[in-house]
Amino acid sequence: MTQTFDQPTAEFVSRMRRATLGLASHELAALVVSPGPDLRYLCGYDAIALERLTALILQADSAYLVVPELEVRAALASPVAELGIEVLTWGETDDPYRLVADLIPGGGKAGVEARMWAAKTFALGGAGLNVTTGERALAELRLRKSAYEINCLRKAGAAIDRVHEQVSGFLRIGRTERAIAADISAAIIATGHERVDFAIVASGPNGASPHHLASDRELVAGDLIVVDIGGTMPDGYCSDSTRTYCLGDPEPAARDAYEVLQVAQELAVRHVVPGISAEAIDAAARSVITAAGYGELFMHRTGHGIGLETHEEPYLVAGNATTLEPGMVFSVEPGIYLADQFGARIEDIVAVTETGWESFNLRPRNLIVVPT
Ligand code: ZN
Ligand code: ZN
Repeated sequence: MTQTFDQPTAEFVSRMRRATLGLASHELAALVVSPGPDLRYLCGYDAIALERLTALILQADSAYLVVPELEVRAALASPVAELGIEVLTWGETDDPYRLVADLIPGGGKAGVEARMWAAKTFALGGAGLNVTTGERALAELRLRKSAYEINCLRKAGAAIDRVHEQVSGFLRIGRTERAIAADISAAIIATGHERVDFAIVASGPNGASPHHLASDRELVAGDLIVVDIGGTMPDGYCSDSTRTYCLGDPEPAARDAYEVLQVAQELAVRHVVPGISAEAIDAAARSVITAAGYGELFMHRTGHGIGLETHEEPYLVAGNATTLEPGMVFSVEPGIYLADQFGARIEDIVAVTETGWESFNLRPRNLIVVPT
């Protein structure tokens, strides 16, 4: 468990205020938030989700943190105390669900955060709370990043760029994906991340599976290698970037597909501007890939939001008409996947600015050829 104190308290004050003000428009009497990214976002308490109930109860005129007695010191060491949140403790023989229900009288709707354990949600309902989802109310808060958050994500992007800078040195004929992933994981920590979230090394035919992790496959000459990596910085913000490498000269088919992919990715990024829809960015990438005849081979959405979680709103996918606004941050990561042969993907984290976009990943986007 890590607490970060360099974050201005004003940031949390503003988040709590916006959450409180948003209750009415979501027809909620309260938000009930258990440990996870939403709790960390609102009040800076980075608690571990355990079986004992910890929950922030936010209402129009009050804020309580219900914590097990044995965790009260950790809670008070977080910014919670500075934010005027009243800490209520419960002992081993108390019923914390009854305690929460008593805090929210009158049968008003209690919006529960999406990642609360089902057992806890049911127990809150069993204690008489009118439980509903608080997912929308909380996701909207995190959708537009503050200047502080933009800076955190920019630093995370620079850190993962420094890992990609080293990847060519890890790629050699005969090395396994797993060994390469281990080197990458060490580099993710060495570049300032607190935690490795994933180190995808997908070589040759494995590259055709977008979420292949790493296997004992040994690299051979001519392999395309999809390297999709990310971690969490000590401030809680995440990195996520993909580059595709080639060990020696690529096969013509792979080179041709890659050229199309790079045009698609760069074009989609250049489309980012306030006022455009999330699905229009997906369409921009997809139209290039489809026109070149690879449409069937790009089977996933173009991107996902990123912040305290690697995947959060907004999602760049057909059907999502969400209007992009300054402060939204997401990946732009089209891919082309040819079963049993190869895959390729390029991924940058991009922020919507007042006038257009800023990419937090700046490594070259061409196919990176590693000499054998
Ligand atoms: Zn991603
Ligand atoms: Zn990724």
